[in-house]
Amino acid sequence: MIDLRSDTLTRPTEAMRAAMASAEVGDDVYAEDPTVNALEDRVAELFGHEAALFTPTGSLANVLAVRSLVGAGQEVLCESSAHIARAELGAHGAITGLTMRTWTHPRGQVDLAAIEHLFAPDMGPFFVATAAVSVECTHNFAGGAVLPIDDLTSLRAWADGVGTRLHMDGARIWNAHVATGTPLTEYGAIADVMAVCLSKGLGAPVGSLMIGGRDAIAEARVWRKRLGGGMRQVGILAAAGLHALDHHVERLAEDHEHARLLAEACGVDPDTVDTNIVVVERDDAGRFVAAAAEEGVRVAPVGPRAVRLVTHLDVSAEDARRAAAVLRRVAATPAG
Ligand SMILES: *Cc1c(COP(=O)(O)O)cnc(C)c1O
Repeated sequence: MIDLRSDTLTRPTEAMRAAMASAEVGDDVYAEDPTVNALEDRVAELFGHEAALFTPTGSLANVLAVRSLVGAGQEVLCESSAHIARAELGAHGAITGLTMRTWTHPRGQVDLAAIEHLFAPDMGPFFVATAAVSVECTHNFAGGAVLPIDDLTSLRAWADGVGTRLHMDGARIWNAHVATGTPLTEYGAIADVMAVCLSKGLGAPVGSLMIGGRDAIAEARVWRKRLGGGMRQVGILAAAGLHALDHHVERLAEDHEHARLLAEACGVDPDTVDTNIVVVERDDAGRFVAAAAEEGVRVAPVGPRAVRLVTHLDVSAEDARRAAAVLRRVAATPAG
């Protein structure tokens, strides 16, 4: 089976397992795990921020990051198909007590006019106060779309002008970095706080980080523990992340090439594929998924009329060619 359902499906390589097995560890709740500390310092520095905090999931990193900007009874603005709005099971409302209002863009992009229209930091005792804006880069449900750095820079300038703050869900910021050549520090400079994942295309089995200022991270450390995310000798997992940063970032370019190949096979314009995710609009999504599976290619339905393909570390160039041949046949069968 060639599994294109998600880039979370990767399994640690032998070299990654060796790095994990030999990791130096300590109790991270005491901040005494040297491997976790090294990972946190390294990731903070990569993005030009003061500090970072290792978390078990990207969802927790997002909850901690957004709650550092937005309190109970306040709102965050985000795109309507953002992961924080759709795919975190309401955690921000359930845990933080915040609300969200959204703008909609088919490619998950920044729409500054819409954001300005929604923005309401102080409407007295009548309306929810906007405390922050959140952007997602790359944008998962918009098919791995990159948010151009110029748009992000304009958003940052606007936010500084009106005195509001920015969260970036950078679960796949590595893909944006490799696809565009934009330095990670430039993405870091856009955001007051970020979340990044090691467990997607980078191929670590577990692990994400919240990134931000020293005070925000200190407070997030308390909230992480409060929510049950204080982990002990977790350097074993942080070692996988460090290994991924050393060996699995630049190779994301191969995933992007493979995604273009698969897009072309499915009749999707490869120029609309920015990174490692391809969304194929099909009226027969159910049949498409079943027919592909029968020929050894697993793809994921996203609703009744779309199929998602994601390339990753465990999809070799040979796998991508084989999958493209299968999907070309499956896609050639007319819908209905
Ligand atoms: C995967 C993902 C996350 C975090 O997901 P977890 O499964 O909680 O690690 C956050 N944001 C985006 C855009 C993602 O794709």
